[in-house]
Amino acid sequence: MRLLIMGPPGAGKGTQAKFIADHFSIPAISTGDIFRANVSQGTPLGVEAKRYMDAGEYVPDEVTNRMVSNRIVESDAEHGFLLDGYPRTLAQVEELDGMIKQTGHQLDAVVVLTVDSEEIVQRLLQRAEIEGRADDTEDVIRRRQEVYAEQTHPLIEVYKARGLVHEVDGLGEVDDVTKRIFASLSETSES
Ligand code: ADP
Repeated sequence: MRLLIMGPPGAGKGTQAKFIADHFSIPAISTGDIFRANVSQGTPLGVEAKRYMDAGEYVPDEVTNRMVSNRIVESDAEHGFLLDGYPRTLAQVEELDGMIKQTGHQLDAVVVLTVDSEEIVQRLLQRAEIEGRADDTEDVIRRRQEVYAEQTHPLIEVYKARGLVHEVDGLGEVDDVTKRIFASLSETSES
């Protein structure tokens, strides 16, 4: 299984990604988590990424692409993976297509979580209090939403045109959202 999970910042991608990945026994690979781990370890990649992340901007494609292509060839991803937070730009879509094609596989499905943007700002501000993420201030959250709307939202149409999209309502209890995702994914695998 090679899956993507998409949705605006704060849609709950990370939470759902873990459930989906466990279910299919594949790793959930979050570019945001990898960047944050690098930031906290002070690696050169982390130092570079932090400048963008703190401002709510995307890390340059070359940096992100290289990181993902190195990650998905690790042995735990041999039978598949779920990408959370990648691709986020059209250039990344093309790059990922190339990476997957090279391994002789294909993308199986794209889960898209839909949520209301005001609801999200509130969720993220709450998360800021719990997790203390540097990019969860109101200004930066709004900037991340803008960047998402401009650069990443259009990718949903690209994947829709390929018939891969499973749009799922991301509001409500975590469990309910998970059930909706599995219901949607099993519909196509049966048909
Ligand atoms: P969220 O979805 O809540 O905005 P993430 O944890 O997925 O948060 O990402 C945090 C930050 O990491 C992004 O705002 C961006 O700066 C950087 N980042 C993550 N994934 C990518 C990507 N695919 N391309 C460029 N930058 C990325």
